[in-house]
Amino acid sequence: MNLCTEEEKRIFNFLQQQNCCLRCCFRFIGCRTIDCFQDPIKFAKSAGYIEVEHVPFNNEVPCTACLGILQNKIQEQVVEKIHVEVEKQSYDSETFICALTIPICISLREHFLHMQCATQFNLSEDMLLCLKVKLQNVKDVWKWITIPKIENAIKKQVDLTTPSPFIIEIILKYEYNEKECEALLNTYKKTNNIEYKQKRKCNDNRFSKTSIEILMTKITDEEFFKCFKTVIFETTDKIYVEKIMCTHSSIFIGGRYNKLSRELSQTPWFINGEKKMQTSVQDILCNPIAEVVKAQSIKFLSSGREDVDVRNIYSGRPFAVELINPQKSKITEKLLSDLVDEINRSSRQVQITSNLKVLSRIDLKKLKEGENVKTKFYRAFCICRDATKDMISLEELNNLKRVKITQKTPVRVLHRRPLSPRERLIYEIRARWAKPQELKKFNITNKDASAFFVLDIKTQAGTYVKEFVHGDFGRTKPSLCDILNAEVDIVALDVTGINLNWP
Ligand SMILES: [Zn+2]
Repeated sequence: MNLCTEEEKRIFNFLQQQNCCLRCCFRFIGCRTIDCFQDPIKFAKSAGYIEVEHVPFNNEVPCTACLGILQNKIQEQVVEKIHVEVEKQSYDSETFICALTIPICISLREHFLHMQCATQFNLSEDMLLCLKVKLQNVKDVWKWITIPKIENAIKKQVDLTTPSPFIIEIILKYEYNEKECEALLNTYKKTNNIEYKQKRKCNDNRFSKTSIEILMTKITDEEFFKCFKTVIFETTDKIYVEKIMCTHSSIFIGGRYNKLSRELSQTPWFINGEKKMQTSVQDILCNPIAEVVKAQSIKFLSSGREDVDVRNIYSGRPFAVELINPQKSKITEKLLSDLVDEINRSSRQVQITSNLKVLSRIDLKKLKEGENVKTKFYRAFCICRDATKDMISLEELNNLKRVKITQKTPVRVLHRRPLSPRERLIYEIRARWAKPQELKKFNITNKDASAFFVLDIKTQAGTYVKEFVHGDFGRTKPSLCDILNAEVDIVALDVTGINLNWP
């Protein structure tokens, strides 16, 4: 152990006289051993910073520099509050990280103490700079001494390297923070002849860390010192825990689903705050998952979407759900397969067609990218209303390959997203007249039967298939009507395949 230099000791003792706690005294002289922060009295005595017979530092007076944050009393209160908060909830994460927010006036006070030392000991500019560089950050010291105590209290391990997805945020407030920042601002305005403009009233964040830092660069040390000498530091305990927040970062779970109803929207549909349909694909898929992991909220992500009246059959549409702030993060294969069973039992309108899987952020990118590169397969049940004598036979459609079409934004979505016309490719078409059992499903009597046909098409992602069939008042060119020389309309549409390796 190094004994202190005389100069360090003088500064150390001077800071003590200014009511700094021993931990802050060690911070200011740049002590880097953990011992001095863990047991400051013992260390200070053995290293000769304080006399052996010296009465131990009075821990009751809040420290001028850290406002008590590094003193045992406040520290114990904070640990206890964290303990209570974590206990209240049921996060199953075995690790955690801490984020501490402290009042900004602490850095003003540190700066002030530096100036006091400089005046007291007549330090040169270089020596003052050297002293400033040595200063150990309050938050770092707080973490060194407090984290082991938190670990002990909440029975979780800190994990800074991964880092842990479970975050405990501690916000400490100081009653006179505003007053001290205000003093700085007033000095700045006085010296620069700036009129006081009250911009945002009643704003807690009027003095952000950055705004104070900017202000500090605009004021000379002398101006600052002169201003702060007039501020009376309160010596009563006014630091308090404003908030402790626990959050777990999002978990993503994905799979594929079929939509078997022609009366179901993809997401909950509200008009003037009123739910217009009882349920939705999102509700059916996501709510049971959110409940199991105790998520605070969810975000439904899917590779495209179906219209209310369009089904999705066969292999299913890729989807993922972002579970925001979940308390349960240990997700087993068993839990996932139970969820599939539960969801598939609960609804006939939506069915999960794959395994559910916990996803990484890279997986999610694939879902988003898949939206543009994938090919899609559709089956449309169509009616030929008015065949001209020039109508080509249905079979001829089967010979078409890579038909290029131009689509203006469909009339039905014009209010949502009017875009410039876009080109899409219809890769392949298969068409045939409808079979009796297919007609039966749509309650079609024999009289009209000859007008119905089934169309299977393979298209580029983003094609408006309904519009390709009926032409959308000439907004899609060419349409199936144009190709067939007949007036064709669509009765029902199914998505029959989305090419994406998922999940
Ligand atoms: Zn202190």
